Amino acid sequence: HTTTWKQLNDHLASWVTASKVHTEDGHVASYIPELANAPADILGICIMDAEGNTVAAGDTDYHFTLQSISKVFTLILALMDNGEEYVFSKVGMEPTGDDFNSMLKLELVEPGIPFNPLINAGAIAISSLIAGDTPSEQTQRILQFFRELADNPALDINQDVFKSESDTAHRNRSLAYFLKDNGVLDREVDDVLRVYFSHCSIQVNCTDLARMALVLAHNGVDPIRKQRLIPRRFVQIAKTFMFTCGMYNASGEFAMNVGLPAKSGVSGSILTMVPGRYGIGLVSPALNRKGNSTAGVHLLGKLSQEFDWSLF
Ligand code: GLU
Repeated sequence: HTTTWKQLNDHLASWVTASKVHTEDGHVASYIPELANAPADILGICIMDAEGNTVAAGDTDYHFTLQSISKVFTLILALMDNGEEYVFSKVGMEPTGDDFNSMLKLELVEPGIPFNPLINAGAIAISSLIAGDTPSEQTQRILQFFRELADNPALDINQDVFKSESDTAHRNRSLAYFLKDNGVLDREVDDVLRVYFSHCSIQVNCTDLARMALVLAHNGVDPIRKQRLIPRRFVQIAKTFMFTCGMYNASGEFAMNVGLPAKSGVSGSILTMVPGRYGIGLVSPALNRKGNSTAGVHLLGKLSQEFDWSLF
């Protein structure tokens, strides 16, 4: 640990500079209009150890929305609320190799249930499973849980991003109606989508991401406050999905080149971890064709290679 930590301190800033040129190979997501305003040329990363020490470099003050990274934690909350058996009667366990918002294979795993909880259809189904009588009660519970994991009571929804997404989400709406028709959603479509857009719009920075990742790295125990926040089995489920489906249809390539459980979002964010050791959060909004941060993927490849972080 000490050697790695020293090397990270010595080299992280220069590795960030080296990876930053790759922002030029990508494009900021624009299908949610508000996300199109993100600066294309930034890169920030924070790595946190079990004592809460951090090494950070680049544009670490930048705030962004969780987008698909939130799906990992709503899955965990849905498992805590409903148990494994019920959750997996509504979503499957298989990667798709399709785009995150794909409609093509929606029906193939078992009649009518989405392939996995990290594609949009699956995550929308998961949003419907969060306990609470109303969408705002469900959303409050999600916020509360995320604040606990990030150890940051100030986490909140970015209302501009929420509104922008909800005004333009024709495809997510159609996915939700399709799920409703197949009997996957027990609540009203508009209510479920409100919860889904809300958790995608929760705003964080790299330190928040690293802090949340740290709890997963330590199998559900917050190593800093020495407190169990998530049952071990549910972290195991979440990390397995991150490994097989966390980087969209580039999950295989990422597993090959980095070899760590990770989840990315269209805000250019990536949450990953070195199991048993570090939580890692990064952001760089320019995305490659598969929807992952170009500079972010490059930087994680470098770190994994340098420190032999691959699980295999
Ligand atoms: N809120 C985004 C959507 O549903 C999340 C997409 C993502 O980050 O992959 O389109």
